[in-house]
Amino acid sequence: MTFGSESDALPERECLRRTSGKSSALGVKSCRTVLEHGKEPSYERIAPLLSVLVAVLGSAFSPQSFMKSEDTVSCPICHSERTQFLFDSWDFIHGYPGTFPIWSCKNCGHVFLIGDFTPEMLTNLYSNYYPRSQFDVEHYKPYADRKGFLSWLDGDDAGCHRWVPKNVRVLDIGCGRCETLGYHKALGCEVWGCEADENVRAIADKYGFNVHIGLFDPDNYKKDYFDYVTMNQVIEHCADPEKIFRQILTVIKPGGTLVVGTPQPASIDRFLFRRYWGGWHTPFHLNLFSKKSMCLLLDKTGFRYEHSKCRIPSVNLLNQWAILFVHGEQGKPMRFRTSSWSHHESFGNNLERLWYVRLYRFLEKTRAFALPVRFVDALGIGMNRIYVASKPLS
Ligand SMILES: [Zn+2]
Repeated sequence: MTFGSESDALPERECLRRTSGKSSALGVKSCRTVLEHGKEPSYERIAPLLSVLVAVLGSAFSPQSFMKSEDTVSCPICHSERTQFLFDSWDFIHGYPGTFPIWSCKNCGHVFLIGDFTPEMLTNLYSNYYPRSQFDVEHYKPYADRKGFLSWLDGDDAGCHRWVPKNVRVLDIGCGRCETLGYHKALGCEVWGCEADENVRAIADKYGFNVHIGLFDPDNYKKDYFDYVTMNQVIEHCADPEKIFRQILTVIKPGGTLVVGTPQPASIDRFLFRRYWGGWHTPFHLNLFSKKSMCLLLDKTGFRYEHSKCRIPSVNLLNQWAILFVHGEQGKPMRFRTSSWSHHESFGNNLERLWYVRLYRFLEKTRAFALPVRFVDALGIGMNRIYVASKPLS
């Protein structure tokens, strides 16, 4: 993750010109071009229409949409001033105090949080309000290379690592507990990781992974070195996504690939769960990309958009419903931790007897939510989107 001030960007007119549907002088191809030329499956062609519908419905039915904006702010991606204040959001997961205004851009669909964080505040935020469980290094298990019907049903492809082939040189920015690195290593890849969480060092040391602990810094890597760079659920945390994409471009080989997984605001989940939508994740998520805003960002940072797909683990919808039962009010964390709800972890004996925890276990075991999630993903209006972009050869 990286935090910092906004860097200089191309003027809006230039951004729009370069995404007007034709290849630019740099050979940059817009997402619109891809859609027009039909590289994507047919259901993906109607995804933008469905996304607009969801956004309009969400806006029309949301009581917060009637609130008046206090100031005009410009979009951090396209720099348009056609922005709209949506509502004041708060941290209903970890209980970080305060409320944070959420805005959206009418021009590119980007949704963003405004927060004036000092470095000290960020340290406090991530150290004291974003706790990773005390992970037992002995329990480390890399992600499996699962295939077949259950892999599809569970949404394994929601992880960026699944979009990386065998025998390549790959860097995972925000590699967490190194499960992705173990996955790539088993497939013959040369693996590198970058993770801000100091706790990960013990795992990397024990299993021999080359992990840089700290924020991503391109100076830690050779130029034009990686075949693939992945960022799973990271870019939305970045205050300056343009800067980090420009930095990543320098470490990817010409012709190499960037895979980014990030929540999308034009999702049916946002409409259904409103202020308790998990994608808000206030105040950790600063930028929520529409397909258009991500394409703009890729374009102006020198990447070529290739394709994208909606993919989310099926258990996510179950977790989202669970949040409705246990979410916290302002300044208070959720009643019990759900950040790693899965069949791997127990809630504890007392909680396991609660009726809604039993129901959760039953629904998880029977994969009751899996088919609806796969259907929504197929329509292109799921909560998460995986983007694949390439670095042009010249
Ligand atoms: Zn915008």
